[in-house]
Amino acid sequence: MISELIKQTAQYLVSARHAVALTGAGISVESGIPPFRGEGGLWEKYDPMEFAHINSFLKNPEKVWKIFMGDMKNVLMAAKPNDAHLGLARLERLGILKTIITQNVDGLHQMAGNTDVIEFHGNFAWLRCLKCNQRSKTIEVDLSDPPPKCACGGIFRPECVFFGEMIPPSALTRSQEESSRCDVMLVVGTSALVQPAAFMPVIARESGATVIEINPEPTPLTHRISTLFLAGKAGRVVNDILTEVERLIPSKTASC
Ligand code: NAD
Ligand code: ZN
Repeated sequence: MISELIKQTAQYLVSARHAVALTGAGISVESGIPPFRGEGGLWEKYDPMEFAHINSFLKNPEKVWKIFMGDMKNVLMAAKPNDAHLGLARLERLGILKTIITQNVDGLHQMAGNTDVIEFHGNFAWLRCLKCNQRSKTIEVDLSDPPPKCACGGIFRPECVFFGEMIPPSALTRSQEESSRCDVMLVVGTSALVQPAAFMPVIARESGATVIEINPEPTPLTHRISTLFLAGKAGRVVNDILTEVERLIPSKTASC
């Protein structure tokens, strides 16, 4: 059953004119980064409104930096791309996958080699001063005594989008464009509960694309918006898809 779905997915991908992927926290679980929701999710440990809302951060940046971001920072900085990230990078090298829209802030798609990654919720690689707007690379800032501070004395915030904040307009516009122009959208490791990211597959489907979902658990998209649902962990499923894609286009793979 699953192998039939793998074959169909590979077929859709090799015939695609413009394939894109939408990824969520689930694609980075096998890299050791916990998701927000689901088994082992961060929300089992932290209350999202207390730690991931912009108002909580502005009210008490020291607390959010110390408790939540202190934990996140160590995990994010140690993480390496897994087979799913590497597989999507290979799909780009094969000329199949054009763009990734990611909700993740971990930078693992870029580390894997994808060159067009839309960071829908910003990233954790950069910090910005709340007072003077100066940006600094997270790895170059002393995080040992939170909250980290800029030379001007202002407190640094990460360049990721907190709950209660707007999506960066350029990321939103490009994501909407890519979603409406793609003919295949891979949706990997997202619970599809966070808006407006979860609306991108809806735009894709309404624009005529085939939406293919990879997730161990069904989501609100499953069998309603998604044409195919491949139940499983991202690393294994993406590997199986790649094997099949490479079988279908052996001449193309030799040079990549
Ligand atoms: P989510 O936490 O709401 O849901 C995670 C999804 O991943 C679930 O549907 C789960 O079934 C699935 N999943 C778990 N293990 C998987 C695996 N091995 N392979 C494939 N799927 C798997 O994630 P979300 O939908 O991305 O929304 C949460 C928000 O949290 C995002 O906007 C993101 O900004 C942020 N976040 C990012 C990171 C990161 O950068 N890695 C980590 C946690 C949260
Ligand atoms: Zn400053």
